[in-house]
Amino acid sequence: MFASRDESLEIDPQDTRLDVRRVEKIAKKIASAASRPWTIMEVCAGQTRTLLEYDLRRYLPEKLRLVHGPGCAICATPLATIDRAIAISQLENVVFCCSGELLRLKGSDCDLLEMKARGADVRVVHSPLDSLTLARKMPDKKVVFFTIGFETKVELNALSVWQAKRLGLKNFYLLYSHPCVSAVCSRVLRTVDTPVKGILSPGDVCSVTGTSEYERLSQKYGAPFVITGYQPFDLLEGILSCVKFLESGKSGVKSQYERAISRDGNQQAKALISEVFEVKDREWRGIGNVERGGYRMKSEFASYDAFSQFEVDVKSRADSPSCISNQILLGLKVPTDCPVFGNSCHPNSPQGATMVSNQGTCFTYYNFRHNHSA
Ligand code: SF4
Repeated sequence: MFASRDESLEIDPQDTRLDVRRVEKIAKKIASAASRPWTIMEVCAGQTRTLLEYDLRRYLPEKLRLVHGPGCAICATPLATIDRAIAISQLENVVFCCSGELLRLKGSDCDLLEMKARGADVRVVHSPLDSLTLARKMPDKKVVFFTIGFETKVELNALSVWQAKRLGLKNFYLLYSHPCVSAVCSRVLRTVDTPVKGILSPGDVCSVTGTSEYERLSQKYGAPFVITGYQPFDLLEGILSCVKFLESGKSGVKSQYERAISRDGNQQAKALISEVFEVKDREWRGIGNVERGGYRMKSEFASYDAFSQFEVDVKSRADSPSCISNQILLGLKVPTDCPVFGNSCHPNSPQGATMVSNQGTCFTYYNFRHNHSA
């Protein structure tokens, strides 16, 4: 039995946003390029959403299998970090800031919106720089900015911490979850019996990081990486490039955005990030420890790190034992393989990593479950 759903996310049969003739043309090229079965992973949640929202799989040959990757930063965030956010928001003298999407993020028992309703000073802000301004205006308060995201967000958060230090602020803190996309791609390809032969990587993250790390991974695992965007044609063209790589027996990296993405990425952003953060092993919810899987604030900036500056007692519950999100995140299974998908686990009652965020694979499957191939 399905619970309430977000109807605004369902596909409209009259939808004319997709140029079907153009889609069919690319699909035909993919079909004639693929001589045998291949499994390709689209890593990013935004790519998965496009795939399901436009039901692109119905245009693709059956021998081509797409599996959905771990590229949702909220899903990757350990439940203990969300519980820590909720605990810090309740402390006296704390002004707790975050984006609107994090307000409804479920911790073990409740969410930040509930804390706000109970009187905690929880505020929605657009960026860490808004929190920095608040910290300057309210020197007698401790202003905490809670943030989750990949490299595109790390840059701005690094800037806020760097600026706080420059201004000599003593009441600004960052509570962050910054997983690293390339590290988890490596984890996927290292998985025993992985079916994944090629990877579609997210273009926005590569605009910061560049593509050189993917060259290393491609060589190491013999798998092609294609950097794509999020529109239906971006994905389809990415799939075509990936199939061509696979059929040729070659690995390598190809970017659909050669004008916007350079091999070395945004040097200025990378320098700022590495001044404030370092790459370390970290836990991904659902997967466990990922080697060099995320960013950690450097010790020189420890006074801005909410992990070390707030002592809170957090006891997080474990995800449901029936949850198979670890296998989904690694491309071994899809949400409909889960026995509790849409039954006891749905967006209002998430039981595991891939249902907690509206970008999670299980959430996306749930919202587009009426689409033919989902
Ligand atoms: S449907 Fe729920 S329990 Fe099943 S894999 Fe997804 S998140 Fe886990």
